[in-house]
Amino acid sequence: MLHELTSREAGLLYLLFPHLSGLALDRVEDLDGSVKIVARTGSEPVGCRDCGTLSARVHGRYRRCLQDLARAGRSVQVELEVRRLICDNAACPVATFAEQVKGLTARHQRRTAGLRSPLAGRARAGRPRRVPAGAGAGRGRLPVHTDPPGQSDA
Ligand SMILES: [Zn+2]
Repeated sequence: MLHELTSREAGLLYLLFPHLSGLALDRVEDLDGSVKIVARTGSEPVGCRDCGTLSARVHGRYRRCLQDLARAGRSVQVELEVRRLICDNAACPVATFAEQVKGLTARHQRRTAGLRSPLAGRARAGRPRRVPAGAGAGRGRLPVHTDPPGQSDA
C-alpha cells in the first residue's frame, strides 16, 4: 500500500524519524513486513567532498536505498533521492560529487548512520531476510534521470 504524505503527516513522521528532518518526505509504502519511506534532499548548497567548496549546481539526481533501524518489529527502508553536484573550483580534481546527508548517509554505505552505530545491533532484528528483486542492483542506486553510468563515488 502506498501513501502520499501531506505536510502534516510528514511533520508527524519527523517525530518518529528525527534523522530525516532535513529531508522532504514524499510518501510511505507499506510493504510485506517492512516500511519504505521515500524522501529527497532539498536545494541547499553542499560542500565538495574533496575541497569543501559549496555548490548547489545540480549535475543529476539518483536514488539510494538505505536500510534504517527497525521500528516496532518492522524493517525500515529509506529510498532517498540525492543530487550529484558540480564542483566549481577549477583547482579541485573532483568534477562532480554525490551529496551526503549528515547523520544519515555516507559514501558507499547502504545503511543509515543510525543503523551503522555500534548500539544498533539489537535493533537489526527486523531486517528482511531476503532482498526484494532488483533492490540490490547497482549498490542500491536506482537511476532517476541524468546521472551517467560509470560514476561510482556515491
Ligand atoms: Zn571540489
